[in-house]
Amino acid sequence: MPELPEVETFKRYLDDTSLRQRIINVEVRDSYVLKRTSPLQLARALKRRRFASSCRHGKHLFVRADNELWVRLHFGMTGSLEYLSHDNVVPKTARVIFRFGNSRRLVFDDQRKFGEIELIKDVDEFLQTRKLGPDALEISLSQFKAIVEKHHGAVKAILLNQQLIAGIGNLYADEILFRARIHPGSDADRLGEKDLSRLFRATHYVLEKAIALKTDFNRLPKSWLLTHRRKAGKCPRCGHALTSATIGGRTSWFCAHCQKRI
Ligand SMILES: [Zn+2]
Repeated sequence: MPELPEVETFKRYLDDTSLRQRIINVEVRDSYVLKRTSPLQLARALKRRRFASSCRHGKHLFVRADNELWVRLHFGMTGSLEYLSHDNVVPKTARVIFRFGNSRRLVFDDQRKFGEIELIKDVDEFLQTRKLGPDALEISLSQFKAIVEKHHGAVKAILLNQQLIAGIGNLYADEILFRARIHPGSDADRLGEKDLSRLFRATHYVLEKAIALKTDFNRLPKSWLLTHRRKAGKCPRCGHALTSATIGGRTSWFCAHCQKRI
């Protein structure tokens, strides 16, 4: 499921391939992914326009057209972007295709269709309406501490709550907690100053490293939990068997030996 690092990687990919090209048409193959926007509205808003810039907040990508409208993309469970030349085959699960003047196409591919595309007028207004918290990479240490320590419940649930901190999903939350050596079920309001600082640093390290590696799981360090989180998987730090449990409503993997409950 695309989380902050994946969406940032899509943003950079889109910036490198699709900005400043004239949009010839927009083909909606499955309008299920369109939210509060019809295929006709989307095509009318973008035809003969260009994508001028983009920005990301949490797991949302916003692409500004040169008429000041924004296209919001959310990648759901299986969404991705692909930039195709005219002789590339369009995937069967392509939902929306933006065709450019140079006959290349930007495809929003989404097998399971939990993704979303919406036309919006204002990014800040959208963030306020959704009550999204600050972006996990934009937040300061003091903001981070204030948010985590004033909430009760499992620290993992706090990290996953998009209205508190935006961008972290299940896989990276586990990775961050593993790096910070904090049990995902620890009560957030029991974390001390040092725990919170460690958690903050781990958040930055994990998200930034994943972005630097373009979220290619094959290139992630072997010292990461992500490459071991499976049945019979062993902790890359101490060699003990990893544990899985439902925490914060999600399947969590952790090392009960290295990650102490606080
Ligand atoms: Zn361990």
